Amino acid sequence: MAQEKRDYYEVLGVQKNASEDDIKKAYRKLAKQYHPDVNPGDKDAEQKFKEINEAYEVLSDPDKRSKYDQYGHDAFDPSAGAGAGFGGFGDFGFDISDLFSNFFGGGSSRRNGPIRGDDVNVRLTLSFEEAVFGVKKEINYNRVQKCSECGGTGAEKGTSPKTCPTCGGKGQVRVQTRTPLGVMQTTKTCDNCRGTGKIVEKPCAACRGNGYVRVSKKLEVNIPAGIDDGQTVALRGQGSDGRNGGGPGDLNIYVNVRPHPIFEREGNDIYCEVPITYAEATLGAEIEIPTLEGKEKYTVPEGTQTGTTFTLRQKGVKYVNSKGRGNLHFTVNVEVPKNLSAAQKELLKKFADSCGENNYSKKSKLFRKLFK
Ligand SMILES: [Zn+2]
Ligand SMILES: [Zn+2]
Repeated sequence: MAQEKRDYYEVLGVQKNASEDDIKKAYRKLAKQYHPDVNPGDKDAEQKFKEINEAYEVLSDPDKRSKYDQYGHDAFDPSAGAGAGFGGFGDFGFDISDLFSNFFGGGSSRRNGPIRGDDVNVRLTLSFEEAVFGVKKEINYNRVQKCSECGGTGAEKGTSPKTCPTCGGKGQVRVQTRTPLGVMQTTKTCDNCRGTGKIVEKPCAACRGNGYVRVSKKLEVNIPAGIDDGQTVALRGQGSDGRNGGGPGDLNIYVNVRPHPIFEREGNDIYCEVPITYAEATLGAEIEIPTLEGKEKYTVPEGTQTGTTFTLRQKGVKYVNSKGRGNLHFTVNVEVPKNLSAAQKELLKKFADSCGENNYSKKSKLFRKLFK
């Protein structure tokens, strides 16, 4: 980390108190501007694009954002050792140790009954194309898993935990308290076994008596075609193991989608702008338009006005849970020619002189409306 890192808010050009929406808007604008596809071979733009994505990954996640607000860049630099609790980002743009576990928390959460395992939440950033067409991704994450050495009992191999003598295995003890109203009887968690009802005399070395260990896991995940920014892929049962017969939690993959330099996506419809020449608009022409599948020919009619939007049905993004697709809308904009030669200007003047009122209906009506 030789280079001084810029402040993430500064990178996105937003205020410290910017809303999630502001951050998203700022990110989209900048990411489009510095997208490698629009700046081929431009190292500065590439660097900037990376910086923007890094800033967005932190500021778009409320948890990471609050850690960043507290610790600054140290929160994400493992070498700084700020103890913020998680490491850097992988190439796929998600946090591999994004594990929200309270298994090793205080004794008050321990009970005798079944406890469902915790959900594990990870963030995955996809390119526009990956989201549109679907992709197979390897997800690396940490989960809490039953210790294979002791089978989750926490006792050394070959031994087994004893029933707690203090509470008789119930995990709770009755307490009598004298109050002005008489003797009150309440129950509290047994201190001796911390509510588990069992005492481990020789703890398992592999899990230090916890019965559970944190392991990293790799999972190949099929991200379905059509997934959109802000959506979640939930993999049932791939989270942390449960306790006392409780089922496992889920793995939740929160999806971020990077913007595309040409296409704008809204739900399953996509939008783009296509520049056309003055002659194409005037005479009508077969033009090439960009689609998700590549170039396609389309015939614009004679007299097409600039700003006209055409729709290609079923050329948008696939619906995740059904067969159909959204639509592709493209807006044609007349590109006014520049750098004309003297000869070209002469031709255009001749053409302009030949035009009359019946060629320009709007222009000729404008001032008639003004003076009635
Ligand atoms: Zn163990
Ligand atoms: Zn006990």
